[in-house]
Amino acid sequence: MTRHSEATQQWWERARHAIPGGVNSPVRAFGAVGGTPVFIVRGQGPYVYDLEGRRYIDLVQSWGAVILGHAHPAVTEAVKRAAADGTSFGMPTTAEVELAETIAGAIPSVEMVRLVNSGTEAVMSAVRLARAVTGRPYVVKFEGCYHGHSDGMLVRAGSGAAVYGAPQGTSSPASPGVSPGAAGETLLARYNHLSDVEALFDRWGDRIAAVVVEPVAANMGVVLPEPGFLEGLRELTRRHGSLLIFDEVITGFRVGWSGAQGRLGVTPDLTCLGKVIGGGLPVGAYGGPRALMEQVAPAGPVYQAGTLSGNPITVAAGLAVLRELARPGVYERLEALGQRLAEGLRQSAREAGVALSVVQMGGLVGIAFAEAAPTDFDSARAADAGRYARFFHAMLERGVHLAPAMLEAVFVGLAHDEAVVDAVVEAAQAALIESAR
Ligand SMILES: *Cc1c(COP(=O)(O)O)cnc(C)c1O
Repeated sequence: MTRHSEATQQWWERARHAIPGGVNSPVRAFGAVGGTPVFIVRGQGPYVYDLEGRRYIDLVQSWGAVILGHAHPAVTEAVKRAAADGTSFGMPTTAEVELAETIAGAIPSVEMVRLVNSGTEAVMSAVRLARAVTGRPYVVKFEGCYHGHSDGMLVRAGSGAAVYGAPQGTSSPASPGVSPGAAGETLLARYNHLSDVEALFDRWGDRIAAVVVEPVAANMGVVLPEPGFLEGLRELTRRHGSLLIFDEVITGFRVGWSGAQGRLGVTPDLTCLGKVIGGGLPVGAYGGPRALMEQVAPAGPVYQAGTLSGNPITVAAGLAVLRELARPGVYERLEALGQRLAEGLRQSAREAGVALSVVQMGGLVGIAFAEAAPTDFDSARAADAGRYARFFHAMLERGVHLAPAMLEAVFVGLAHDEAVVDAVVEAAQAALIESAR
């Protein structure tokens, strides 16, 4: 395990004294892999630098939010310029309109979009809208999908909630403090098990407001939708008068310019976005057809608001990112880099004689120490977490920072060029052998 200097240890003690668990979001702690997190002082392109001056190739990328890499000049410049003109007005700005238009131009289901401050808010607001327009109470959610930390979504949730939440029995909330009422309005199904959803609709069909799903699940490692799964959800929701909500907070602008929905050819009613569209600043968005979105206040009765929503600095950063992503060939390049990493990791695992499944779509890569790629939450959690922890530390020692938990994605961005990807693969060759012992 990586040994830290006195300074890091001291900061970590201060952190744990001043902040619950030492971190402002649970997944950042090393609870799932052991040891002490590193403190980051700066980032540049594919790299982050810690307090001790060590450099790491960063495969966390702010959990997918910084697809251009750290401190990209276009983003830095946009942020500086916006900040110099004032940090927030609480009045309309033209840049908000441009960002909304850009998103609507890219994502097939979106004609109108409302900006919020986090993915959590985006999903919470989309669910409220779905309940309002259908007049129904229930929401179907999939085990292992993460949709932020609003009450109703903290039931069998993936990501940090799977590691740091309360033990999750079927339909019991992942956290104390979530009321049985909120949890009870969330119906659970297994990812990729269409028959679970059919059974829920058979029983509760006229009470289900929406099915919410990550079209590519990226908070239980990465789990790809099996052929027919998303199409089946589309068909079932349409037949029963429920809305289909795609949570594309991770996949949006990462697996392609038109998101997972464009790439996979399934169009939801509502789409949630976040992460990439804020360039590393706090952001979320939800959007859909005009008829639905015009139910949102002040156009319609469904209340949703935010003092800092559409913040000028966030919007400037988001626009700068989307401008870069709109350039020709960008997603082909991201796909090629993702494939290069996935193939390199598969090859290294074969050579090391280690059972490692690797899946990839665009700048999203998922690894699992298992014979076969996980297809749902149970198979994702059945992967070898002990081996992941050893692999994580073996990689960290070699200067590669993976997510400090097995049930997270590996994020590749446009700053990870071929040489950087190859350096990751080279580190993995040794780390796989070491962690197999
Ligand atoms: C990160 C994430 C969220 C929550 O976004 P925050 O900005 O952290 O609130 C919601 N859904 C998915 C799929 C996510 O990955």
